[in-house]
Amino acid sequence: MKCEFCGKGYNCNQKRELERFNSHVQHCKSNPNRIKYKCKYCDYENLDDRKISAHLCELNPNYEKILKLRIANLNGKSGWKHSEKTKSKISKIRIDYLLKNPDKVPYRIEKYFSGF
Ligand SMILES: [Zn+2]
Ligand SMILES: [Zn+2]
Repeated sequence: MKCEFCGKGYNCNQKRELERFNSHVQHCKSNPNRIKYKCKYCDYENLDDRKISAHLCELNPNYEKILKLRIANLNGKSGWKHSEKTKSKISKIRIDYLLKNPDKVPYRIEKYFSGF
């Protein structure tokens, strides 16, 4: 089967592919009536699914876990080192967070970043 909007082809003999096809058509960038991706937990929505996956929702029951994981990934293989590089990475994340959530007091973030 092919997407009627962008022509992208899917092998719909497989159930999984058919599901992917259906969701692609709903969200296809060429579809004038495309559906926005929505956060499972809050009212946040975006046409770009990458924005949705980047959106770390405070209402997510795993919020703290995910936040810790992201910070862990950030420090990754080199371990938690208080180097200048790490500091600048952290502050960038922190700034990104504040830019995306200007109305939120980043108290949870503060907890993780205290000591800098
Ligand atoms: Zn398409
Ligand atoms: Zn959300």
